[in-house]
Amino acid sequence: MQEEINLRGIIQVVHHRSANTGMRILKGVAASPGIAVGRAFVLDPDLPVDDSQHIAPERVASELSKFYNAVETASAELMNAMELAKRESATVSGIVESYLLIVRDSAIVDTIVRRIESGMSAESAVAREFDVHKTLMYNARDPIMRSRAQDFEDVKERLIAAIRNRTLVHMVEADSVIVASSITPQDILFFKQTQTLGFATEVGGINSHACIMARDMGFPAVIGLRDVTGEIQKDDVIIVDGYSGWVVANPDEETLERYRHKALKAEEYKQKLGELINKPTITTDGVQISLLANVDTPDQVDSAVMTGAEGAGLVRSEMLLMHLGRYPTLEEETEWYRDMAERMYPMPLTIRAFDVGGDKFRQGIPHQEENPALGLRGIRFLLYRPDIFEQQICAVLRASMYRNIRFMLPMVSMVEELDEARRLVKLCQQGLANDGVEFDPNIQIGVMIETPAAALSADTFAEHADFLSIGTNDLAQYALATDRLNELVSDIFDALHPSVIRMVRMIVDAANRHNKSVSVCGEMAGHAAATEMLIGLGLRELSVAPRLLLELKQRIRNASAEKCKQLDHELEHCNTTQEVYSVLNTIGTWRGKDDLDA
Ligand code: PEP
Ligand code: MG
Repeated sequence: MQEEINLRGIIQVVHHRSANTGMRILKGVAASPGIAVGRAFVLDPDLPVDDSQHIAPERVASELSKFYNAVETASAELMNAMELAKRESATVSGIVESYLLIVRDSAIVDTIVRRIESGMSAESAVAREFDVHKTLMYNARDPIMRSRAQDFEDVKERLIAAIRNRTLVHMVEADSVIVASSITPQDILFFKQTQTLGFATEVGGINSHACIMARDMGFPAVIGLRDVTGEIQKDDVIIVDGYSGWVVANPDEETLERYRHKALKAEEYKQKLGELINKPTITTDGVQISLLANVDTPDQVDSAVMTGAEGAGLVRSEMLLMHLGRYPTLEEETEWYRDMAERMYPMPLTIRAFDVGGDKFRQGIPHQEENPALGLRGIRFLLYRPDIFEQQICAVLRASMYRNIRFMLPMVSMVEELDEARRLVKLCQQGLANDGVEFDPNIQIGVMIETPAAALSADTFAEHADFLSIGTNDLAQYALATDRLNELVSDIFDALHPSVIRMVRMIVDAANRHNKSVSVCGEMAGHAAATEMLIGLGLRELSVAPRLLLELKQRIRNASAEKCKQLDHELEHCNTTQEVYSVLNTIGTWRGKDDLDA
């Protein structure tokens, strides 16, 4: 099929080949932003593994020794990778550590040994055992667990390579772009030392550890490229467009030039945004907006501070549970919050109580639920398990000695839930006071407004809570009766539906009437089309992922609060999401990265 390449990613051609120039165009999934232009280095795919290879009894001892040696080799490689990872970030070393835990998992090792003793080859036993774990992960309801399936595949491949005596070291020239069936976090650390420019792979999930690391370390990457190792030859000139998911091999002069220009613009864009860090977040007519960050881990607090955040508007504390795979001890939990509070000090850190249940962490939920999103989630779970909740309150209070922590309750639908949480906070405060432990006696307790019930009772919540934060992700999910993870209804799930906007307006008005602060911490806060609308609705506090902070600041600095107010009057008359978008499109917003394609 002959079609023009469209760098905005509009056309759906998967593989395109130009007869005249030998140029090949492949479409994958953009996994880490940026543009890389270099020479391809293609990693050889491994030989397939036969997972039912049987051995004669006299070979058992030698297969066992092959396996033990492989575990040693893989552990040693990971320990080396750990040293490199420590120079990167806590996210990167955490990822390598999780691989080490898999390699050394004694239950897995024991089962593999038993399989070999019963007559399987080392390779087959490893493949069989890891495939079992991988399948379990793939079938998990929790999307985070599903994305961990790739970790098991990576470790399996590494062990099999070690059994086959295949070394990890490749002779890669500087300025190469790695083309592979898949890459592991270890590969990324290794290639970082060789000044690799980017990655193009066949498999991998957007939330796989390799992609998280590529993003964290700033490597452009495209994944999901069918047969990329067959389509691209070593030393082909290759472009990886991590913004749109296009990969171009042997580009013609015009395409190469266009991408060089795009890469330059991307660099300028980054620098331009960098200049904004110390500038005030203020509209053209002088209205000040407070920019906060959504952070999950202590090192994200550092990124937020470095990008000029004025505090954290949302700490999803359940990320600690996902990180540990269990509930923490009081000491672990206190340390986690204290570390974040110290890093953010003197700016505020809003810790949201565990939002367990729904599609998130589910340990402790007594049984499988028919409708988890409508089940024992957030504050409901915490009141069902006061032992877990009280420990969390206690840990938050212990970490609150610097007076910069706020505490926030998720999934609230009745004011009684807030009252009960306040009672437990008081109890914990009394206990700590009796023990002579220092804490903030005036810690602010706020609520997430993310159920229609809470939105429609915003006045009551504004009266009883110290602050409100609007969770537009769940508010849209529940208002539109649309599962936010269900692809079948993804076209209906849109937080810019007029009903959601109306609720946001009600909540902001209620907070203003009661003189309480209100922010938006759902995805809507960072939505490029929504900035003027949010200012027009009266919001003066927005909380977004650290990487979105500067783009948002840029849009706010280009907006006029007066015009935003007029826009709100127009939005009040919209009856469909389409009409909302049409109204929003009439304003001349600066569209960030889209400008790069111009
Ligand atoms: C929300 O629902 O908008 C929100 C911020 O919470 P989460 O995405 O963690 O459910
Ligand atoms: Mg939510």
